[in-house]
Amino acid sequence: MKESGKRTLTPQKTVIIGVAILLCAMISGCASGPDIIPSDPKIYRIQTGFTNSFLIQAKDGYLLIDTSYYKEYDNFADSLKQLGLNVNDIKYILLTHHHDDHSGFAARLVDNTDARLIVHKDSVAFLEQGTYSQESRPLNWCVNLIIGSYGMFHEFTYPPVLVRNADIIITGDDPDLLKQIGIDGEIIHTPGHTKDSISVILKDGKAFVGDAAMDLMNICMCEHRPIFIADESKTFESWQKMKEHGARMIYPAHGSPFPIEDLMEVINKRQPDPQHIQ
Ligand SMILES: [Zn+2]
Repeated sequence: MKESGKRTLTPQKTVIIGVAILLCAMISGCASGPDIIPSDPKIYRIQTGFTNSFLIQAKDGYLLIDTSYYKEYDNFADSLKQLGLNVNDIKYILLTHHHDDHSGFAARLVDNTDARLIVHKDSVAFLEQGTYSQESRPLNWCVNLIIGSYGMFHEFTYPPVLVRNADIIITGDDPDLLKQIGIDGEIIHTPGHTKDSISVILKDGKAFVGDAAMDLMNICMCEHRPIFIADESKTFESWQKMKEHGARMIYPAHGSPFPIEDLMEVINKRQPDPQHIQ
């Protein structure tokens, strides 16, 4: 059947486009493409959709931290090309947690490369089904108002990611793995957004935290907290833990980097010193 040349906007499509524009306005731009982290030629950030993925040079190729939505695979591959790389240069794929904007094209990338996955043990069941845990809730009424309508039209599922024997399963903090693959840093468990959240902390203080902290929807007074959250007190504990493990600059999966002090300020504001409580 020949498609009609005239396209109409259904109410559903109008809402989706409206929410997408609103989200774009609330985060630091919707630019797509690669850039180099200032002062570090070994690390690239690739933005596709709303997600920042990071490439860090390892001994025999690159570690990729997070993929993006499934449909962003071609954009991601184009960005690699602009950097003079291709998907086969990726030797490890670390998923900070199982959500679809982080694991979306992981299965396709695994199929097209010989890369090994690095995932937390609590991610595995969700990844293998391409689903998500029900533990996280909108942070507040404002997030609920904006994201609630988005959720009505978004599936949050993704092609299942099979975890194989050769892949690496993280069970807690792992001080050794990154060093073994030629990266001076460690992996720590940073729950709060989800139970399975992990972060990469480099020796020089750069911290790649997935959704454990964000720079998103500040109009809703999110203050770097995840817009979907399973446990706020665990989130704050994870922020504290990042600092104890040497984090100085936070690179979130959504939004722009910011200093760890910003997170400490939020904790101090929300958990006042008991001595000052009358
Ligand atoms: Zn998430």
